[in-house]
Amino acid sequence: MAEEIAQNEQKNPYLPFGDRQDAPFYGKDILSVKQFTRQDLEYIFGVAHEMREMVQRVGSFDLLKGKILANLFYEPSTRTSSSFTSAMERLGGSLIPINEVHYSSVAKGESLPDTVRTLECYADVIVLRHPEVGASELAARYANKPIINAGDGIGEHPTQALLDLFTIYEELGDPDGLVITMLGDLKYGRTVHSLARLLSLYDVQINYVSPDILKIPEGIFAEVEEKGVPQTENSTLEPVLQDTDVLYVTRVQKERFEDPSDYDSVKSAFIITSDSLSIAKDKMIILHPLPRVGEISMEVDDDPRAAYFRQMEYGLYVRMALLAMVLGKS
Ligand code: ASP
Repeated sequence: MAEEIAQNEQKNPYLPFGDRQDAPFYGKDILSVKQFTRQDLEYIFGVAHEMREMVQRVGSFDLLKGKILANLFYEPSTRTSSSFTSAMERLGGSLIPINEVHYSSVAKGESLPDTVRTLECYADVIVLRHPEVGASELAARYANKPIINAGDGIGEHPTQALLDLFTIYEELGDPDGLVITMLGDLKYGRTVHSLARLLSLYDVQINYVSPDILKIPEGIFAEVEEKGVPQTENSTLEPVLQDTDVLYVTRVQKERFEDPSDYDSVKSAFIITSDSLSIAKDKMIILHPLPRVGEISMEVDDDPRAAYFRQMEYGLYVRMALLAMVLGKS
């Protein structure tokens, strides 16, 4: 028996993860960062870290062999959809990609509840991006299989915030004591909404820098305040940049503006250049959920503090961890 196990372990490097139907996230939806405790995050990041090591060692392995993911995207996506695809395939699973809903029955007027009830007949987990706030909660009410929120309008983007925080852990260590500055479109940026909430579980300071019409929503500010996290609101970056450990830059979300002239008035409000970073710490990082549309100049890419490309890779490991967890494999 012991010999068999040893042989198996050699053949199947994923065996140590085991098949744990009693795993903490087995069968769960991932809808909002509000559902996580600090302990949950440490668990998720522990698994993500193992995924990173496994990918670096063996590339792909069969932890989710036979499992199927449905990617259901009602809004454009490059990183989220392709990293979930890659995550599933690196874990040996397969995929139903519905990245262009116009070619599905959605174009015939099918409702979201009916579409997810269809897909769960064929898939074990559904990743959903939708333009309406609360869409993934609605989907989860109808679906029996796990729903993972990949962005619901201007609401939340929990898996992005998890990967943002994982990046902070991997690059700078425990977030306690760090100063995080969020810059850009804090009103419509769903990644900011999720990240601010997630950071409120830590002993951090958060600075918000935005044009007046793109300030962080009052409700989120109040939630974070209630957790005792010090926050400041600013219209320029300079006064807070010197003390910043994590500069989280976001794009102005053009597609969310009702009045195009409002967009035009703020679209170039902040542009990070090598020059503007000259007063920043040597040991700090610049993150961006991407895509960028001019708010970080390309010359910054060569600065070792520019972590936004590494951040994308960390996203793969976090999404591998989440898929393995909700499917009871970790
Ligand atoms: N990719 C991120 C999102 O889907 C950020 C962005 O689009 O600006 O929210």
